[in-house]
Amino acid sequence: MMTPELWTIPPSTISPAELAEKSAALINRLKGISERFKSVRFATSLAAEDMVLTDAICKSKAKIALFTLATGRLHQETVDMVKTTEDHYGITIAKVYPDESDIQAFIDKYGMNGFYEGEEPKKACCGARKIKPLNAALLGADAWLTGQRREQSTTRIDLHFEEHDESRGIAKFNPLFDWTESDIWAYIKQENVPIHPLHLKGYPSIGCEPCTRQVKKGEDIRAGRWWWLQSDSKECGLHVNKQV
Ligand code: SF4
Repeated sequence: MMTPELWTIPPSTISPAELAEKSAALINRLKGISERFKSVRFATSLAAEDMVLTDAICKSKAKIALFTLATGRLHQETVDMVKTTEDHYGITIAKVYPDESDIQAFIDKYGMNGFYEGEEPKKACCGARKIKPLNAALLGADAWLTGQRREQSTTRIDLHFEEHDESRGIAKFNPLFDWTESDIWAYIKQENVPIHPLHLKGYPSIGCEPCTRQVKKGEDIRAGRWWWLQSDSKECGLHVNKQV
């Protein structure tokens, strides 16, 4: 049987002039956000979009604090990318851990990998390992950023630059909302941004290890996330907003 061809990093389709314009606009977006808000935070997953934002945050010198959700189920490559990124930019990325008692309660009820059994246990696991720690990390912030893009999935086509995060009562920004996948990779190449090693092994989107798999060429770029669920359930529940 032939091994299926995997997703690979797309070629650049944006001209150098357009990329320069888009990059300058991104830096201005970040500066504008940090001028408007006192405490802005960014949760990085270390995947491509979040690396572009990290690079632009460092170049813009915007006052935006970085953290990452150390879920306890990440690939070793993701764990290693935290240090690679810190060393590359000379920054510190705060690690936010889940509460041990929440993890134990999930395991007692569903089993360690109980999230494979359906939507409810998946929500419970993401709740314990991602949402509750994210809520704690955003306490005291008045705005936060994500690396989400409209083009990524059907659940993100209505994404806007500025939104109101109703569940947390703070502003939420998606500075890459109008970037394409090709724009992201053109920026990474142009600016020599560190690349998560799994992007070179057929993973366009990277989350927790047991819930992320490689994607075949031509498949949806989020097809490798929670592949056993319906496509409209392929979010962690981190993003509940209202357009501003
Ligand atoms: S992505 Fe998977 S392992 Fe990670 S928190 Fe969600 S259900 Fe749990």
